[in-house]
Amino acid sequence: MPQYQVGHEARTQAAKEDLKKAFPMVQLIGSSFEGGGMPACAQQGQAAALEAIKRFQSKK
Ligand SMILES: Cc1cc2nc3c(=O)[nH]c(=O)nc-3n(C[C@H](O)[C@H](O)[C@H](O)COP(=O)(O)OP(=O)(O)OC[C@H]3O[C@@H](n4cnc5c(N)ncnc54)[C@H](O)[C@@H]3O)c2cc1C
Repeated sequence: MPQYQVGHEARTQAAKEDLKKAFPMVQLIGSSFEGGGMPACAQQGQAAALEAIKRFQSKK
């Protein structure tokens, strides 16, 4: 199974923040970012859906 390199969490966080500034409605999720198994991916999907609703509502 692929392993994240040292500093992965900080790089992921920085990438997410940069992406949010450039494209507020786009999010990074999946096994490349926060956990390689299905449970972690499902959790990320759920959190991203809630975050998308929040961002959409704050745009109105
Ligand atoms: C053989 C194998 C067995 C596994 N068994 C387990 C297990 O038993 N339990 C467990 O918890 N996890 C298991 N995993 C891990 C689990 O499958 C992954 O962690 C999970 O599927 C990752 O989800 P994801 O959405 O990040 O990526 P993916 O499921 O890979 O989804 C990415 C999607 O993006 C699509 N895509 C890629 N590039 C593009 C593009 N340019 N344009 C449009 N679409 C694109 C792909 O076609 C794919 O549908 C297994 C993985 C493998 C390979």
